[in-house]
Amino acid sequence: MNLPDMIRAVQKALGVDVDGNAGPQTWTAIYNKICPGAPAPPVTTTSSTKKTPPPPTGDKVDDRSEKNIATLLPEVRPYARALVTKAAQNGITIKVISGTRTYTEQNDLYAQGRTKPGPKVTNAPGGYSNHNFGIAFDIGVFEGSSYKDESPKYKAVGVLGMDLGLEWGGNWKTIQDEPHFQLRPSWASDLSEKDMLAELRDRKDEGKAVYA
Ligand SMILES: [Zn+2]
Repeated sequence: MNLPDMIRAVQKALGVDVDGNAGPQTWTAIYNKICPGAPAPPVTTTSSTKKTPPPPTGDKVDDRSEKNIATLLPEVRPYARALVTKAAQNGITIKVISGTRTYTEQNDLYAQGRTKPGPKVTNAPGGYSNHNFGIAFDIGVFEGSSYKDESPKYKAVGVLGMDLGLEWGGNWKTIQDEPHFQLRPSWASDLSEKDMLAELRDRKDEGKAVYA
């Protein structure tokens, strides 16, 4: 048996995509199998820079996720559904728990912990969050019906998301945001987050499509 055949056999046994090529998805599945319950180490992967083609439209997922997925741009929806499905194939239950927010909703969140009571939940006022443009969503890890705001599974899901071509908030250098995923438009591939947001605001003001 040659090496690709061996990898294919292992992938088949793990229930991941069988392509004879051990990428982050396979390694995450192997890791979870061999080290159950241990926190997954960050996986360095080249696949975050490689643009994968958009996944097919995708079958609908659970109702709570679908409600939030409906607030995303049509281009992003298949990615969100593919992530929920892919996580389930790897034995991890996730739901999309947050999607798009209007500037007003974002300003209300920003006011929390500043001019309104409660803890600070965001550093972005209206127009300064990727959630204001339909390109970003947050997931929650569930065990049974219970939501886990902290779990090593967020890192495993991060790897799966990058594999799909999504940008993962857990990779950010400043504020890491493991539940966060976004689909970067191709025109923004070399832009800083700040410059991308400026262009997104301009496009919104001008009524121009985000992914055009
Ligand atoms: Zn987010």
